[in-house]
Amino acid sequence: MAGMHDWLVPPGTPASVAVEGTAARFAVHRIYCVGRNYAEHTREMGGDPHRDAPFFFGKPADALVASGESVPYPSRTGNFHHEIELVVALARGGRDIAVSEALDHVFGYAVGNDFTRRDLQHASRAAGQPWETSKGFDHSAAVGTLRPADRGHVQRGRIWLNVNGALRQSADVSEMTWKVPEIIAELSTFFELAPGDLIFTGTPAGVGALSRGDLVEGGIEGLATLANRIQ
Ligand code: MN
Repeated sequence: MAGMHDWLVPPGTPASVAVEGTAARFAVHRIYCVGRNYAEHTREMGGDPHRDAPFFFGKPADALVASGESVPYPSRTGNFHHEIELVVALARGGRDIAVSEALDHVFGYAVGNDFTRRDLQHASRAAGQPWETSKGFDHSAAVGTLRPADRGHVQRGRIWLNVNGALRQSADVSEMTWKVPEIIAELSTFFELAPGDLIFTGTPAGVGALSRGDLVEGGIEGLATLANRIQ
């Protein structure tokens, strides 16, 4: 029966991500993303890697999708793109974190897909408008199982993405313009970072369009593969 307190929620279950080697899950606070962090992708997006500094945007935490879950083809786009990325999960937060101490804040690493309505992103960019509809839509943040950092930090290794078994993106994590410690340090000058924050660290070249029915699989050496079917 409907009542005046129906809008009150019980003690909540926040958005969360699976963790290797445990049934416990990583509770997610915010999702931050870096744009243009691989030179070849900056060029394919029409930018100049020598002039354009990486920048930040965000996605809502409830846009998370796990590996194995299907992703609905989003409304209002005819150019829905994949972007395979290394995702960093923070165990500790802070402001003005030093580059030299940044890795001490990392909980672990996972493979992510920064799903994008590319047509809306280009239109927003041209009009000087924000990116929520192109980047922060429902089901736009696919994140695979986290590997805890006590099993090693991810500073190099192949990053790849296949669509229906055909290779679309292939690079090495070491090619990132800004490395993970630099990203954490810079981001912490704009926001007070918190335990539970996820950071998508940018995609290499080869982004492209997806269709309903496509199987999107991506990986990074040493991390669990991320697989999602577009529905
Ligand atoms: Mn991206």
